Amino acid sequence: MEKDKNILIVGGGIAGLSTAYYLKKGLDERAKGSCTITLVEKGSRLGGNIVTERLDGFLVEGGPDCFLSEKPWALALCRELGLSEELLPTKKPSGTTYVFSEGSLHPLPEGIILMVPTRILPLLSDTLISWRGKLRMAMEPFIPRRRGAGDESLADFVRRRLGEEVLQKIAQPLVAGIHAGDPETMSVRASFPKFVEMEEQYGSLVRGMLYRMRALRGMAKKGGEERLTMFLSLKSGMQLLVDTLAERIKDGVTILKDRGMKRIERPGNHYMAETDREETIRADALVVATPAYVAASLVEALDRELSSLLLTIPYVSTATVSLGYEREGLSHPMDGFGFVVPEVEGRAIMAATWTSSKWEARAPEGRALIRCFVGGAKRGELVSMDDGQLAGLVKKDLRDIMGIQTPPLFVRIYRWHRAMPQYTIGHMERVKGIEELCERHSGLFLTGSAYHGIGISDTVREAETTAERVVTTLFG
Ligand SMILES: Cc1cc2nc3c(=O)[nH]c(=O)nc-3n(C[C@H](O)[C@H](O)[C@H](O)COP(=O)(O)OP(=O)(O)OC[C@H]3O[C@@H](n4cnc5c(N)ncnc54)[C@H](O)[C@@H]3O)c2cc1C
Repeated sequence: MEKDKNILIVGGGIAGLSTAYYLKKGLDERAKGSCTITLVEKGSRLGGNIVTERLDGFLVEGGPDCFLSEKPWALALCRELGLSEELLPTKKPSGTTYVFSEGSLHPLPEGIILMVPTRILPLLSDTLISWRGKLRMAMEPFIPRRRGAGDESLADFVRRRLGEEVLQKIAQPLVAGIHAGDPETMSVRASFPKFVEMEEQYGSLVRGMLYRMRALRGMAKKGGEERLTMFLSLKSGMQLLVDTLAERIKDGVTILKDRGMKRIERPGNHYMAETDREETIRADALVVATPAYVAASLVEALDRELSSLLLTIPYVSTATVSLGYEREGLSHPMDGFGFVVPEVEGRAIMAATWTSSKWEARAPEGRALIRCFVGGAKRGELVSMDDGQLAGLVKKDLRDIMGIQTPPLFVRIYRWHRAMPQYTIGHMERVKGIEELCERHSGLFLTGSAYHGIGISDTVREAETTAERVVTTLFG
């Protein structure tokens, strides 16, 4: 077995950290420590978009506040790291999401999963969708499959299968709340592959969703002691995952913070990477775990074509605005997980989580925490507003939407500039092209949320695959 290989990871978000973790694990098993691993992070802290803060007894998530249990990779990593006791299910297995439409909050009818109806009765008493819209929804199982295999926008897909009203009032705001994206430009294949599969396999989303629910119920039963809900968090906050990973890799991985990687070259059979402190790091394998536009600038000197293609993955900016309140000052029952706001309503808030209703231990007794999501594909300019202006817009929306008159105990804003990749139409072909170009450079790997899934769980899965590929490339 060859000795003394150097592996360099650029980026200390969840992608870079989990790549380091799986690499260390793979190497411990196979190469018995014959490699050096260095991780370079631009910022002074690890975790990228993941950051948890404690504020006067409140627990505030600046970025992600949970991961999906249905995508098992983040959950598996937590268990492997010994965090099973820390897993935090939602207070209720499923909570109502409200939609703000025409001046009031309407509960999303029970049985609607994402945008797909799975029960008829709750739809009858629903106040969100018009009768015409409901009839159109009910026709979904009879709409023929799409002919042709090319990509389609999410908007066209939803219009075709469920109608315009579901698109405007349900799909658009839900998608803005998850991806901060615009359904008119989003790729349905890349963003909601399960929907495309359901149409292809069952000829209908409704039928497909009913089959999937049956499978999920089976999974929940097998889950045994642990109570798994659709969304899972960690009792001490998502930052714990980052801190635990950092702790686990500290023997074996050199972590260099406060160093932005500037450029990458390949003078011979190895890579030379230069940081903004003018240090040069030699590497036999290089994993770039930064946003795609950063990867583009890093590889520019190495491969212009690859760099240009990486730049075609667009990013949008978002901000989270968390507000703490005395519970008795709020007249709204907050009897659900939160609400979403369709774009046609012209509000600053895209979505809000009633954090203290959704999760235990996010607010002290007698207090409430609300987290609002602003910006995204349509209102990115809001993210650049100063704190006072942005908080003012959010408070005005909360007054109009939830009737909140009382001043908050605090407002905490986290801005995420160009942080959310957008999987626009043709995304999968673009990523395939990027991967083909990457193959021209043995030992170069790209990983992170830009490519095969935007959430934490997908990013962890990608990181594990990337680590396996690095080990195979170096050691066969
Ligand atoms: C507001 C918000 C809410 C979200 N909510 C959820 C959620 O609830 N659930 C969920 O599953 N997902 C959520 N996501 C998505 C989730 O955050 C991402 O999937 C995940 O954090 C991406 O991790 P990453 O490591 O790929 O990227 P990042 O977290 O962006 O990490 C990239 C790292 O690279 C570093 N870097 C950049 N340039 C350089 C350079 N030149 N040199 C060295 N280092 C560099 C950065 O400083 C950063 O630390 C949310 C995202 C945002 C922004």
